[in-house]
Amino acid sequence: MVDLKSQYKNIKSEIDIAVQSVLDSTAFINGSQVRSFEEKLANYLAVNDVVSCGNGTDALQIALMALNLQPGDEVIVPAFTYVATAEVIALLKLKPVMTEVCPATFNITAELIEKAITAKTKAIVPVHLYGQCADMEPILNLAKKHSLYVIEDAAQAIGADYTFSNRVVKKAGTMGDIGCTSFFPSKNLGCYGDGGALYTNNAALAKKVRMIANHGQEKKYHHKVVGCNSRLDTLQAAILEIKLKYLENYTQARIQVANAYDNAFKEIEDLIIPKRSDNASHVFNQYTVKLQVSSKRDALKQFLQEKAIPSMVYYPISLHLQDAFKTATFGIGDFPVTQNLCASVLSLPIHTEMQESQLNYIIDAVKLFFKV
Ligand SMILES: *Cc1c(COP(=O)(O)O)cnc(C)c1O
Repeated sequence: MVDLKSQYKNIKSEIDIAVQSVLDSTAFINGSQVRSFEEKLANYLAVNDVVSCGNGTDALQIALMALNLQPGDEVIVPAFTYVATAEVIALLKLKPVMTEVCPATFNITAELIEKAITAKTKAIVPVHLYGQCADMEPILNLAKKHSLYVIEDAAQAIGADYTFSNRVVKKAGTMGDIGCTSFFPSKNLGCYGDGGALYTNNAALAKKVRMIANHGQEKKYHHKVVGCNSRLDTLQAAILEIKLKYLENYTQARIQVANAYDNAFKEIEDLIIPKRSDNASHVFNQYTVKLQVSSKRDALKQFLQEKAIPSMVYYPISLHLQDAFKTATFGIGDFPVTQNLCASVLSLPIHTEMQESQLNYIIDAVKLFFKV
């Protein structure tokens, strides 16, 4: 699905020097690279503050902790997402309220969110799934109308742009109150282990987030709030500082693969290529097709597997049907769009070092399956 080895080889000399310098300094925790990476990322995203942390799941948890939510408060999330989005809500004794998603973009919409709002709703967590922003302008307007916080799960969408109706362009994760991202190795800006970050333009929130991620302290041994211990290692920060320079190129490489897939597959009637929103760029953390006839999905996966082509189903089970989230409120049949997506989506290999020959091999295999 990804080729992290080739990617590393292409920047090996720079990475090795950066890693060696951390080893030489032995400043493994909170070394200078952590702050300098945060500053560079903030600059790239055009956001006031970036606070790094241990991973993307922690980022979501810390964001919720920073907003003073009370047990039982409701937080709206799409049913079609990675488990982390909803998990941290439940972990904090808040109530994840799941919603259906748009069948074309796979993302949550303001219309769908509105139906789920109750007197107890306090926040919305839009997920920019696969690398394309949810339609944020109406979501932000709705949030404003109901005084709800917006925490963006931008784990798959670092670098993606969203254009507002007044032509203002913002990056994924910088539109709501807090944005969260992950530097898991297969994410678009991946480190060599675990890592994550939060973004915000609100200085008070930034301060709080930083405090929570550091045991609730601003001053050593003075704990103002109950926090947690979630840090980005200096080694990872040093690696990310190098990789951030290549992020735009990496994004372009992904888009080129996606364009080639689109061109090759657009005539296949049984295959639906990813929808590109008019007001959002797509950074293709995943290239995900839908099968018109969902029963053919597993056969295609198997067919590709036999040709040594990996493919993945993100995600095979709707969150509302997971044992961990089963409630009396939701059951089978409640989110037919999401359930249909779980049965019909397939993500194909996409990464920054895809060779033309590999790409053609995959395209030919898919076409062969559909006999076109
Ligand atoms: C990867 C991911 C996360 C979690 O990130 P980790 O760094 O693995 O904890 C959260 N949400 C989404 C949508 C993701 O893709």
